[in-house]
Amino acid sequence: MIDLRSDTVTLPCDAMRQVMFDAPLGDDVYGEDPSVNTLQTLAAEITGKESALFVSSGTQSNLLAVLSQCERGDEYIAGQEAHTYRFEAGGAAVLGGIQPQPLPFNGRGELDLEQVAETIKPDDFHFARTKLLCLENTQTGKVLAMDYLADFFQLAVKYGLRKHLDGARAFNAAVKMSIDIKEICSYFDTVSICLSKGLAAPVGSVLVGDRITIEKARRLRKMLGGGMRQAGILAAAGIYALKNNIERLQVDHENAANLADGLRGLAGFRLLEEPETNMVLLDLSREYFSALSAWLADNNVTVSGQRWVLHKDVSRDDVERVLELCSEFSNAPA
Ligand SMILES: *Cc1c(COP(=O)(O)O)cnc(C)c1O
Repeated sequence: MIDLRSDTVTLPCDAMRQVMFDAPLGDDVYGEDPSVNTLQTLAAEITGKESALFVSSGTQSNLLAVLSQCERGDEYIAGQEAHTYRFEAGGAAVLGGIQPQPLPFNGRGELDLEQVAETIKPDDFHFARTKLLCLENTQTGKVLAMDYLADFFQLAVKYGLRKHLDGARAFNAAVKMSIDIKEICSYFDTVSICLSKGLAAPVGSVLVGDRITIEKARRLRKMLGGGMRQAGILAAAGIYALKNNIERLQVDHENAANLADGLRGLAGFRLLEEPETNMVLLDLSREYFSALSAWLADNNVTVSGQRWVLHKDVSRDDVERVLELCSEFSNAPA
C-alpha cells in the first residue's frame, strides 16, 4: 500500500516506539511529566523561543495561539485558504468570539502586504480590533521567502500587531532553505509546529513563543480539555522526531522532485506548479483525475485529490512504482 494522501499517515518506526515504551512519565497537569518537560524545553531551544507547550494537534495549537493573543471583539487576518481560517471549524470565532478576516494567498503562498495594510482596521468603534496576523509556512508545500518574512515583520511592528506562524511544516521550509528554523521563528511571536506530519510522530504539536503567551495558552489548553496526564508517552515520540527526523525531510523533497519530473514527461499529465518541498500538485481535468485515482486505488496506491504528499513511509521505490502505474495509465487507449 502506497499512501500519498498526506504526511499525517506515517507510522512510528520501531526505534520511536521503543523510546515511547521507555519514556519516564508523570502527571503533566501537575507539570510533573519529565518527557513532556524535556520535549517542551527542546522545542523552545530549537526554535529560539522562551517557552513551548505540547498540545494534542495543530488545530489546538493554532486555536491557542489566537485565543491567547486576541480577545472577544478582536480579529486576526489570515489566508482565505489558510488552515487557521478554513480548516479549523471556525474555532476562534466559535470559542473565542474572535473574528477572522481572510485575504487571498498569492501564488507564492503569501498575503499581499499592501492589501494587509489596507485591511487592518483603524481604531474606531465600528470595527473589530485587528490584533494578529497569521501566515502559513510551508503553504501547500511552498516556502515563504525570508525577505518576505522580514517585510511582513516590519508591517506588523508598524501597526503594533502580534504575529503567528502556522508552521505545521516549518521544518520542511527550513530544510529546503538550509537555514536554522530559529531564523524563520524570529519573525513571529508564536509558532505552531506539527510533530505528526513529516516529522512522523503519531500525535501532537508544539506551540512556541514568549513565556507569558505560552502560560496563557496553558490555561486555555486546560479549559479546552487539552490537559493530558501521562502525556510523556506521546511527548517521547516528539522528542525522537525532533532529534532524528528533521534532516530526513530532504528525502521527501527529493522524492517529490523525482515524482514531479517523471509525471511531467507523461502524455496527458500536467503539474500545477513545481514542487518546492514534499507536495506534488497536479492540474488534471476532473474526469481524467477520477479515472486515474480509481486505477491507482486498484493498484494499492491511495490519493485524495490532486495534492500528492511525500513522507517517511513512501520510499524511492514506491515513487518508481507510482510512476510506472501513471505511465501505464497515460499510455492506455482512452
Ligand atoms: C495539518 C495542519 C494543521 C493542523 O493539523 P492537525 O490535524 O489539527 O494536527 C495546521 N495547519 C496546517 C497548514 C496543516 O497542514
